Amino acid sequence: MYTTKMKQPLMAVMSMAVGLCACTPAQEAPVSETATETPTASVNNEAGRLDTMAARFAPTEIVADLSRLSPADRQVLAKLVQASKIMDALYLRQVWAGNEAMLLDLIRDQTPEGRARLHYFLINKGPWSRLDDNEVIVPGAPPKSPGANFYPEGATKEELERWIASLPQAERARATGFFTVVRRSGPTFTLVPYNQEYQNELTQAAALLREAAGLASEPTLKAYLTSRAGAFLSNDYYDSDVAWMDLKGTVEPTIGPYEVYEDEWFNYKAAFESFVTVLDEAETAKLQRFAGELQDIENNLPIDPKLRNPKIGASAPIVVVNEIYASGDANHGVQTAAFNLPNDERVISAKGSKRVMLKNVQDAKFAKILTPISRVVLTPEDQKELAFEAFFTHILVHELMHGLGPHNITVGGRQTTVRQELKDTYSAIEEAKADISSLFAIQFMIDKGVLAKSLERQLYITFLASTFRAIRFGINEAHGSGIAIQLNTLLDKGAVTVRSDGTFAVDLAKAKEAVTGLTRDIMTIQAEGNYAAARDLRDRLGVVRPQVQAALDKLMSVPVDIEPRFTTADELVAEANRSRGR
Ligand SMILES: [Zn+2]
Repeated sequence: MYTTKMKQPLMAVMSMAVGLCACTPAQEAPVSETATETPTASVNNEAGRLDTMAARFAPTEIVADLSRLSPADRQVLAKLVQASKIMDALYLRQVWAGNEAMLLDLIRDQTPEGRARLHYFLINKGPWSRLDDNEVIVPGAPPKSPGANFYPEGATKEELERWIASLPQAERARATGFFTVVRRSGPTFTLVPYNQEYQNELTQAAALLREAAGLASEPTLKAYLTSRAGAFLSNDYYDSDVAWMDLKGTVEPTIGPYEVYEDEWFNYKAAFESFVTVLDEAETAKLQRFAGELQDIENNLPIDPKLRNPKIGASAPIVVVNEIYASGDANHGVQTAAFNLPNDERVISAKGSKRVMLKNVQDAKFAKILTPISRVVLTPEDQKELAFEAFFTHILVHELMHGLGPHNITVGGRQTTVRQELKDTYSAIEEAKADISSLFAIQFMIDKGVLAKSLERQLYITFLASTFRAIRFGINEAHGSGIAIQLNTLLDKGAVTVRSDGTFAVDLAKAKEAVTGLTRDIMTIQAEGNYAAARDLRDRLGVVRPQVQAALDKLMSVPVDIEPRFTTADELVAEANRSRGR
């Protein structure tokens, strides 16, 4: 166990470590092609190896326009950034009990190797490289435990399963709940609620949220911050999750224990994270405009008219925001560009859930990852058409299109769902549907005059470049496999052609046809609940072909993701400190 004394300065140390790392010159260096293409050449020293690993994350300033914010709201944001730094420290401890002590050791090491190691440790929030199957990057660190620090060190999954099964029902619900950790108690285990396990930090975070609530003028923001502060102390998050669904206004924070991915054993335990964001009004207005078009799009889907839904339901709320700061589980390795919360089923059945899209994070990925990819994979003429507007519009419409097309279906007189019928193929097919049908939907809106004609070529070309970004993450997960199905279809239909130099180009007329055809094929498979056809599609087309692999091989020097530098957040905190000094 760590003493309170040790916990207190750690948050300060964490921010110091991040600040200190920001000036490491190695980070700013562009990814060297030779270094990545022939890794053995750079393994001659450990600092170089760590820098090469870190360089897969391109340092990127995350900025947001706050010109329309009141001075009070700027102070609210500064308080939220401070509270978010506490989430960072808590998350670090949730990942591994040894993380805090190791971080303090790493900070003391001023050798080039030590500095490189600290930098990469901070990217990963621990001594394991998340992009490399959790390879150990700090000598002496144990292999990463799938149960993280939610469960006692040395406990096995089977042991915990037996113990959980032996508990009376109410206890079992707590054991499998989001907000408790399991600790040893003599020969057996015991449950410790988060408000006890993380009492010091949560008390401080609650105080900051209360101060922020005191400064805020928007009632729904006050309500969320006040009830979330209460939840930190009571361990009951229900009301504050409900209040989060009701948030209105410009400041849009998400702070607390949320996602369960870090608990790889059971996906029970929520990891601390924070997103401090502000609403993007222009994009939100655009989204509303699209929502008004959805029924018309559904009525014109290229499927048998009797499969169309004459009255589509209200779609789940989507907000488009710009990120000011992200911490904890929301800031390690590959950065989150969109999230869906809450996870508590009780809240979802009462209030639904909300999708939050981080526009400036998408923009950063577009600039630092997709643009360099496009220079390698597209012909020079097509590359000129790459456009963020097209990229982001496709992302927005993708989310909306999940709501269109077949969901509840009848197979052989039996009421069922697409999900049940398509089983293991469902996710890949559904992701492919959302992607390809959003090209169809955007084209529909262009033809209708809702969107500018100038978007047309940009749309297909930007989508083509983005398929390589997605496939690079692997086709073993739903999105990559779904993307491969689409890219191979476009190739087979001549909508995408490969030049002799290995670059790819779009044939606009054929692309429109192929998009309509694949939208029809996929939605028909879904409407029929045709598992055999879905499997055939996935197995035949959800593959990486040699031409595509050759292009992927040329992308070795392009970063995988970004490493955010929260410039706007730093300014806000500095500003708040100055006004306090006055
Ligand atoms: Zn999707």
